[in-house]
Order: sequence, then C-alpha cells, then structure tokens
Amino acid sequence: MIRRKPPEDCPDCGGRLKPVKRFGRGWEGPITRTAIDTEVAHYARADAERGPPHMKFRRAGSVHTLLCTECRRIFLYGVP
Ligand SMILES: [Zn+2]
Repeated sequence: MIRRKPPEDCPDCGGRLKPVKRFGRGWEGPITRTAIDTEVAHYARADAERGPPHMKFRRAGSVHTLLCTECRRIFLYGVP
C-alpha cells in the first residue's frame, strides 16, 4: 500500500493548497428558516449497505479536502 502525504501545492497550477470543510445543507423550514448542516467527512465502499443497529454505512475512511487558492480546484484524499 502506498501512503503518501497530500501535496502542499496544486498539481495543476502550483498554487497553495489549504484545507477546507465540505458540508451538505438540509432542507430549510419555511417557519423557522433554519436548516441542519452536515459535514461530509467519511467514505464507504461503493457496495456498502446500511446496517443495524443504527442503519449506518460501515465507514471505510475519512476524506481530507484541499482547495487551491489560485485556480480554486478542490482535491479529495481518502484516509483509511
Ligand atoms: Zn491550482
């Protein structure tokens, strides 16, 4: 298995990469005008299915996200 540290500079343009957080925003209620944000920080096998007792996916690892400060491209790295 190859374990490499994510790059510090963008492989496309050479710009500086900085860590960012990705999240999904839930439905916004018409009365409360609030929604729940959920961080997207994990991944599972492509064939993973939800299982008991809490009907969650079996976590295979977490996702490290880097944003290029120059070209704005986002890079995702899996951390098992
Ligand atoms: Zn770049």
